Amino acid sequence: MRHIATAGAHLAMRRIDTAGAGLAMRRVATTTAGLAMRRIAIAGAGLAGLTAAQELRRLGYDGEISLVGAERHRPYRRPPLSKEFLLDPEADVALPGTGELGATWLLGQPATGLDLAGRRLLRGALEPVAFDGLIIATGARARTLPGTGARARTLPGTAGLPGVVTLRGLDDARALRAALGARPRVVIAGAGFLGSELAATLRSLDLPVTLVEPGRVPLRRPLGERLGAVIADLHRAHGVDLRLGRRVAAAAGTGRVEHVRLDDGTVLPADLLVVALGAEPELGWLHGSGLRLDGGVVTDRHGLAAPGVAAAGDVARRPSVLLGGELVRVEHYSAAVEQGAHAARSLLGAAAPPGAVPSFWCDLYGHRLRSVGVTGTGYRPRLVHLEPDGRFLVEYQRDGRVVGAVTAGFVRHLSAYRHLLAEAYA
Ligand SMILES: Cc1cc2nc3c(=O)[nH]c(=O)nc-3n(C[C@H](O)[C@H](O)[C@H](O)COP(=O)(O)OP(=O)(O)OC[C@H]3O[C@@H](n4cnc5c(N)ncnc54)[C@H](O)[C@@H]3O)c2cc1C
Repeated sequence: MRHIATAGAHLAMRRIDTAGAGLAMRRVATTTAGLAMRRIAIAGAGLAGLTAAQELRRLGYDGEISLVGAERHRPYRRPPLSKEFLLDPEADVALPGTGELGATWLLGQPATGLDLAGRRLLRGALEPVAFDGLIIATGARARTLPGTGARARTLPGTAGLPGVVTLRGLDDARALRAALGARPRVVIAGAGFLGSELAATLRSLDLPVTLVEPGRVPLRRPLGERLGAVIADLHRAHGVDLRLGRRVAAAAGTGRVEHVRLDDGTVLPADLLVVALGAEPELGWLHGSGLRLDGGVVTDRHGLAAPGVAAAGDVARRPSVLLGGELVRVEHYSAAVEQGAHAARSLLGAAAPPGAVPSFWCDLYGHRLRSVGVTGTGYRPRLVHLEPDGRFLVEYQRDGRVVGAVTAGFVRHLSAYRHLLAEAYA
């Protein structure tokens, strides 16, 4: 046992593995302004929160860890929820290692506010959680409205109408899986990653699916126009009724959804409307906390939003190494894992590894799309390969520099891009 004294209090470190894990402990004061860490609270018991807790223990931190979670479930994997979970009632999504953390689990009640000066996490009428260090990992919520801010409005007829659903959490997925048993006619609003994946999964059950996308092609933002057209062909080839350049304008029915109306007046019969319009960072509870909130909890390059307060995962907006420090919010599984661990290290003042190149995957009709780095409409795409069987490789550049690549089928090439991009982190 080693203790690091800071300003009269101490940080108890069970074991600092400097050789094996290659960690170099800096004094806590360098990144957390002299705060002693005996009680660490984690808001959000999801993937980033769990990874942060595991990393704290791995670093030898033996103080209190309190995990405050809005859901009543222990952390689980979300990616299967739009894929195999909907097909297989036996599918297990639990994340391992939650029992060995020696943590206090405060589940089923969200954090409702942050008293930064008093160092307390508020939980409505429940006892606040006092902390020395805080990791914010509250993720994102499914967007339900077309447009945000001043343009926000509920979709006419959808508020509380049974059969109008979103998919973000385990309870949503269980309800959706149960609803599929009645073999509904499904309309999906939004052909992004989630909507596209969902369409593919539901078509594998041979359900009638209409996919409504306001853009000219599906996945235009993350993949660009040309690849989006390839994905559109893929959807059509698998029997999806794809309505491009259209929005869902309203839903109606007696007792539950029966019709969906598009913005051109088309009325589609439907038993289920899945709203897959993306996600928004879960920030509401932080308003007035004094943290900088701007499309996410804004952090420095250590993942710190304030002294002793870190943010990680879908909720965080961090400087991107690949984009010269530009703030980005990433909704990727691998980013939540990496940032959760990084947040834990920053709180304890442990040196962080150089970081990992962001990566993502998505399953469509037996094709696995994978990406590394940053991709999408903001960057110049260059088609490297496009094969008649649908395999492709596209790289993305900014200012003449490669910043990302996406492929279906050229996985080995993608590793080369990963290595190339990793140089930016060296
Ligand atoms: C259906 C689906 C499929 C996906 N598929 C892929 C994929 O194929 N590939 C990929 O890379 N990524 C995928 N993702 C994205 C990936 O799962 C997320 O990026 C990842 O889960 C983010 O982890 P997180 O811990 O930041 O947030 P989350 O996993 O959302 O966890 C945040 C937790 O905080 C809780 N919370 C919210 N507000 C509060 C509050 N006020 N107080 C306490 N707790 C709160 C939430 O309930 C949640 O449990 C998918 C996501 C979904 C929803």
